Amino acid sequence: MTPDVRDRTGRPASLERFPEEGCPIPEASWDRALRLIGGHDEIALACHVNPDGDALGSMLAVAFVLRSMGKRVVASFGDRIFAVPRLLGFLPGQEMLVPPDEFPEAPDLMIVFDCSTFERVGLLGANAASAREVIVVDHHPSNTGFGTLDLIDANAAATAMLAEQLVYRLGGRLDRDIATCLYAGLVTDTGSFRYSSTTPAVHHMAARLVATGLRTDEIARELWDRSPFGYLKVLANALERVTLEGGLVWTYVSRVDRAAYGLPYSELEGIIDIVRRADEAEVAVVLKEDDHGDWQVSTRSKGTVDVAAVCAALGGGGHHNAAGYTSYETVEETMAKFRRELRRLS
Ligand code: AMP
Ligand code: MN
Ligand code: MN
Repeated sequence: MTPDVRDRTGRPASLERFPEEGCPIPEASWDRALRLIGGHDEIALACHVNPDGDALGSMLAVAFVLRSMGKRVVASFGDRIFAVPRLLGFLPGQEMLVPPDEFPEAPDLMIVFDCSTFERVGLLGANAASAREVIVVDHHPSNTGFGTLDLIDANAAATAMLAEQLVYRLGGRLDRDIATCLYAGLVTDTGSFRYSSTTPAVHHMAARLVATGLRTDEIARELWDRSPFGYLKVLANALERVTLEGGLVWTYVSRVDRAAYGLPYSELEGIIDIVRRADEAEVAVVLKEDDHGDWQVSTRSKGTVDVAAVCAALGGGGHHNAAGYTSYETVEETMAKFRRELRRLS
């Protein structure tokens, strides 16, 4: 692969090989994004709360390019307790991160990554509301656009695919740092190239990224093959009480479960992937109590049920097969409402 063969728009020529997967974002929108970015010396970047590889990776990749263009860049996410999940500690560029209280209150230009709704911007929603211009870069089908400029492609497997385009269009080149950030997004949101969103364009992008010399084996180990010992104990508890009700398999992990082993909330991300293995279930749910006592509900479908619709009805969102929402009620009340919406919508 030669990542730096460009066409007129700055994209590598190889992106043109899959026109059927062409990006629906109009050229005029990309042009406006480039003009906005070109016209600002300071740019504030944000991604969704409790960032995953796609949110943080896309944001940091673009931050690298903006910095190389001589822009002053701040990047953050709006969690009340600001900490990069241990899983993502290997991502380069974290020196560009600031806690939300050091984020400009009313940025002239703010770019928001991987946020399906305004609420997902968390504490930085207030900054976005006061910003003069907000560019929304996202791939959630439910995103109706909340920026002054929306770069949304519901067919993209990851926001990282849009971030890659933005990198090229800004005249940036893939180096190993940028590629590592983008790869983290691509590999996270495609479940290691297993989900149905894994199109030829996804593999093509992966080839461009891997060609920079990044270590896919090390990235995979960082993302999925490491945990503190306490994870095994917390997982054992969660599996001990896993329940199968018709086509629904579900369990929960409380704060108390985690506290016994000093396990941070962000370590729980992979549990849903174990629970959803149950062949008998069409839908899998894991309720994870965060450090504030709110329940973060992870849901997965094997295809026939649209969990994004169920979660949207409960105040969240996501994708057809992977969605979530926040519940402020007990486990029992949360599950009662979830079952009701699931019955109503499937
Ligand atoms: P997760 O189960 O945390 O991996 O989330 C799966 C998908 O659901 C993500 O891609 C998010 O887009 C979406 N999601 C998760 N939590 C929320 C939430 N509280 N509000 C809206 N969407 C969410
Ligand atoms: Mn995400
Ligand atoms: Mn994403």
